[in-house]
Amino acid sequence: MDLERQGGPAVRRSGALHFVSHAQEKVTRERVQEMRGLVPVEWLAADEGARRFPHIRWNDLAGAVFEPTAGHIDPAEVTRFWIAKARAKGQWALEGVEARGVAQDGGHVVGIYSSMGLLRAHRVILCVGAWSRKLAGAGGLALPSNVFSRSVQCDALADTSFAQEHPAFLDPALGIFGRSDSPGMLRAGMALSDWNIDPDSPIPHSPQQQMAVRDVAGQRFQWGGPIRGAGGWRRFDAFTPDGEAVVAADEKISGLYWATGFSGHGLKIAPAVAARMEALAFDGTNGN
Ligand SMILES: Cc1cc2nc3c(=O)[nH]c(=O)nc-3n(C[C@H](O)[C@H](O)[C@H](O)COP(=O)(O)OP(=O)(O)OC[C@H]3O[C@@H](n4cnc5c(N)ncnc54)[C@H](O)[C@@H]3O)c2cc1C
Repeated sequence: MDLERQGGPAVRRSGALHFVSHAQEKVTRERVQEMRGLVPVEWLAADEGARRFPHIRWNDLAGAVFEPTAGHIDPAEVTRFWIAKARAKGQWALEGVEARGVAQDGGHVVGIYSSMGLLRAHRVILCVGAWSRKLAGAGGLALPSNVFSRSVQCDALADTSFAQEHPAFLDPALGIFGRSDSPGMLRAGMALSDWNIDPDSPIPHSPQQQMAVRDVAGQRFQWGGPIRGAGGWRRFDAFTPDGEAVVAADEKISGLYWATGFSGHGLKIAPAVAARMEALAFDGTNGN
C-alpha cells in the first residue's frame, strides 16, 4: 500500500468478509472474477465459509467475498500523516479553520469565506461529509444530489469466544459491519434510521441501539455465551439513497467541486476518490 511505503501508519491486516445474499451472488461472482489479479480477493461459497469460519451463521447466505489482505487503520492518524507530508512539500494546511461559504465572481470561484477571512483560490473542493447540506445551506449553494447526514453508532460487544484477529465484516442484508478489537471484543456498527440530523447536535450513545446491534449481530454470529455491551460512540457520515458517492463538478459555479456522500465506505475508497478528483479538477478529464 502506498501509505505504508511512504512511512505512514500501518494497516492492521485482519482480512475482510463481505457477506453475499443469493440475490447478489451472480453479479458479485462476476465482479470477483473481474477483480482477480488487481487485488487479492476470493469467492467463498457458504459451505466453504462454514468450514473456515464455523461461528458464523451462513444459512441465509450464498457466500462471501474474502479479502485476505484487507484490514483496518486509524483515520485520524492517516489524516495527520498526509497533512505532515503536504507541509513537508511546502503545501498549506489550515487546521481548525471553518469554511463558511464560497466566494464567486460571475459564476466562477474566487475563493472561500472562512473564519480566517477570505482565502483566495481558483478551485474549491467541498468535502465536509455529513456537514455538506449545512455548508451548502449557509453558503447559498445547491447540493448536486440527494446527500443526507446520517448517524452511525459503533458498539463494543464483549464475548470471550471472539477471536482477536477475526476478519472485519460487512453485512448488507443485516445492515451491520464490524471487526474484532481486543481479545473477546467485537466492534459492530449500524446506521440509525433518522436522516438529516444535525451533525453538530450532541447525540449520546444509545443503549437501545446497542441492544438492536447486539440482536442483529446475534443473527450472524454464534456467541460463546451472554453478550455484554461495552459502550460505544455515535458519529456521522453523508449518505445518498442509492449509496453512490458524489464526486463531481458543481453544475452552476465553475471551479467548484463536490466530494461527499460516501455512505459509510469513504475511508476505503479515499485513494480512488482523490485520483478521480485530481483528474476532474486539474486535468479536466472525468478520471475513468
Ligand atoms: C462509525 C463509522 C464507521 C465507519 N467505518 C468505515 C469503514 O470501516 N470503512 C470505510 O471505508 N468507511 C467507514 N466509515 C465511513 C467513513 O468514515 C466516511 O465515509 C468518511 O470519513 C467520509 O469522509 P469525508 O471526508 O467525506 O467526511 P468526514 O470524514 O466526515 O470529514 C469531513 C470533515 O469536514 C469537517 N468540516 C465540516 N464542516 C466544516 C466547515 N464548515 N469548515 C471546515 N471543515 C468542516 C469536519 O469536521 C470533518 O473533519 C465509517 C463511518 C462511521 C461514522
